[in-house]
Amino acid sequence: MKNIVLKGVGASPGVAIGRAYIYDRYESQISYYNLTSPQMVEKEVRRFRRAVRAAEMELKGLAKRLKTIDEPTPVYIINVHLMILRDRSFVEGVIRRIREEAVNAEWAVRVTVDYFRRIFERMENEYLRERFNDIRYVGQLVLRHLEGKVNKAVFQPEERVIVIASDLSPADTAQMMVDHVLGFATDIGSRTSHTAIVARSLGIPAVVGLERITQSVRTNDIVVVDGMAGVVIVDPDPEVKHRYEEKNRLYLEDRTECMKYAHQPAITKDEYRVRIGGNIEFVEEIPQAVSYGAEGIGLYRTEFIYINKEQLPTEEEHFSIYRRVVESEGLSWATIRTFDLGGDKFFSDPKLAKEMNPQMGLRAIRFCLKEVDLFKVQLRAILRASAFGKTKILFPMISGVEEIREAKRILASVRADLEREGVPVGEEVEVGIMIEVPSAVLVAEALAQEADFFSIGTNDLIQYALAIDRINERVNYLYEPLHPAVIRMIKHVVDVGHHMGIPVAMCGEMAGEPLYTMILLGLDLDELSMNPLAIPKMKMLIQQSSRAEARRIVQRILRMTSAEEVRKYVTDYMLKHYPERWVCEAD
Ligand code: PEP
Ligand code: MG
Repeated sequence: MKNIVLKGVGASPGVAIGRAYIYDRYESQISYYNLTSPQMVEKEVRRFRRAVRAAEMELKGLAKRLKTIDEPTPVYIINVHLMILRDRSFVEGVIRRIREEAVNAEWAVRVTVDYFRRIFERMENEYLRERFNDIRYVGQLVLRHLEGKVNKAVFQPEERVIVIASDLSPADTAQMMVDHVLGFATDIGSRTSHTAIVARSLGIPAVVGLERITQSVRTNDIVVVDGMAGVVIVDPDPEVKHRYEEKNRLYLEDRTECMKYAHQPAITKDEYRVRIGGNIEFVEEIPQAVSYGAEGIGLYRTEFIYINKEQLPTEEEHFSIYRRVVESEGLSWATIRTFDLGGDKFFSDPKLAKEMNPQMGLRAIRFCLKEVDLFKVQLRAILRASAFGKTKILFPMISGVEEIREAKRILASVRADLEREGVPVGEEVEVGIMIEVPSAVLVAEALAQEADFFSIGTNDLIQYALAIDRINERVNYLYEPLHPAVIRMIKHVVDVGHHMGIPVAMCGEMAGEPLYTMILLGLDLDELSMNPLAIPKMKMLIQQSSRAEARRIVQRILRMTSAEEVRKYVTDYMLKHYPERWVCEAD
C-alpha cells in the first residue's frame, strides 16, 4: 500500500527521505556486511547452520532440565521454539537471504524475523499475533549463538537510514553512528523527551509519539519523516516524495536566510537586549552552537557524560571536559548544570535502580545530596575549571530552600578544600537554581536570597505543574506551555527574581519556540537558552519585534483563562505580523 500516513509529534525540524532501519535494543548489536565471494557465502551458510544446531541443543537441554525440576515454564513452549528452529520457511528463508543478497547471517536472521513480524501483525486473532514473540525469541537465540564467532559490531548500516524505534534512550542515541542517521521516528516520546532533544541538537529530523511506527514499517521500506508537521509517510509514491523534497528545499532555504542573523545580537527595535545561550549535551556541540550564534552556554546537561559508561568518570575526566567547555572560543559564559541523573536519563549505575515513577523519584539534586562523594567529584572539577573561563553552576530540581542551602554548603566545603590545597579557582562563580518544580515557584523569594540567578526549566515545570509525564505520548495533548497556569508561574518567577535583583533565564524547550518568543520577551526574561539550531530564527524574530508590542501581548493573554484561547490569539498574531517566519512550520 502506498502513502501510509502516520501522525505523531514533530520533534526536530527538517524532512528526511530514505530507507527505514528498525532499531531494536538487542538487535542493535547486529552488524551488516557483504560477502564478496561465493566461497564466503557458503561458509556463512555453514556458520548459520552451526548456530541453528547449537541453539537446538540448548533448547533440548533446557527441555530435559525442565522435566526434572519443578519449573513453571511449560515444556511445550520449548517445543514451539524447537519447531520454529526446524521450520523450513524460517531456516531456508535465512539461507536464501544469505545467498541471494550475499549478506552476513546475522543480518539475514534479522530481516527474516522482520518479515515474519509483518505477517503476524496482520493476523486478526490476538493469540496468533502474539506468537510472533516466539519467532523473535528464536531469532535472538540464533543470534546469540552466532555472536560468539563474530566481532560484536554496533549500529552501522551501510547507507544513511531513518531509524525507527519504539523509543530511544539517550544511551541508544549516544552510541549510534549519527552520521549514518537521516532521521528518527519513534513510537513513544514527546517534544521534550530526550530523544527529541538529542535529535534537535544533532540537527536530525525526528517525529516521536507515533504509537505504532515499529509495527507499520519494515527495515528497508522507504519512508518520509517530516519533523515540522510531525508526520511519517511510509512507501510514498513519486509525487508525494517530490512534494517533500520541495518542502525540505524550502526549509533549508529558510534556514539559510535566518543564518544571516546568527551573529547579530538579539536586540528588539526598542533596544531591549536578550542574552541568547545554547543548550548542549556534549562538548563536541560547542563549535556548532557558536556558529549558530550562541553567546554563551545557557545549559550544559552534564549527565550525558555518564551515559553508556560502566564506570563513573574521575575528577580529572570531569575537569578536562569542563575546562574545554569554559575555555571554548566565542563563548562569554558557560552554565554547567550539575548532573540530572534519574528520570528519563539513566546510566548504568545500580544506585539508580529502576523506579516506578522515575520522574518523581531519586533524580537530579536529590540523588546528588544522597551520593555526596560523587557530587563532590563533580563540584571539584567544575570549580577547578572555573579558573579558566567564566563559569556558572546550576543546580537542577530544587524544590525548596533546604536543598539549595545544602548544595551550597557542599560547594563551599569543596572550595575550601581546593583553596587549602592551593588549587586555583575562579573568583566569581555564580550559583543558579533551576526553577522546574512548582514548589520552587511559590518559594521563589526565599530561593532568590540563596541564588545569583534563576533558570526556568519549562520541560519539567510544565510536566509537574500540569501533571503530564513528558515522555508519555498518551497524555501529550495536555502538555501545554501556553496553559495560563504556566504563563503565570513564569511571570511570578521573573517578577520575584527582578524584585530581588537577580537575572532570570529560561532554558526549557519553550525558550526556543518562535511561537512563544513574543510572550517570553513581554514577560521580561533576561536570557533565553535553547537548542542551537533554533538561535538564528530567534534572533531574527527578536530583531523584528519590539518589547512594547511584546508587553501588550502579555497584558492581553494574562486576562485569558484557557490555553486554547491563548494559543489561538498568539498563533493568529504571529501569522499576521510575521507570516514569512512560518513557512514550512506546518503542512
Ligand atoms: C527543563 O526541565 O526544562 C530542562 C531544561 O531540563 P531537562 O530537560 O534536562 O530536564
Ligand atoms: Mg529539567
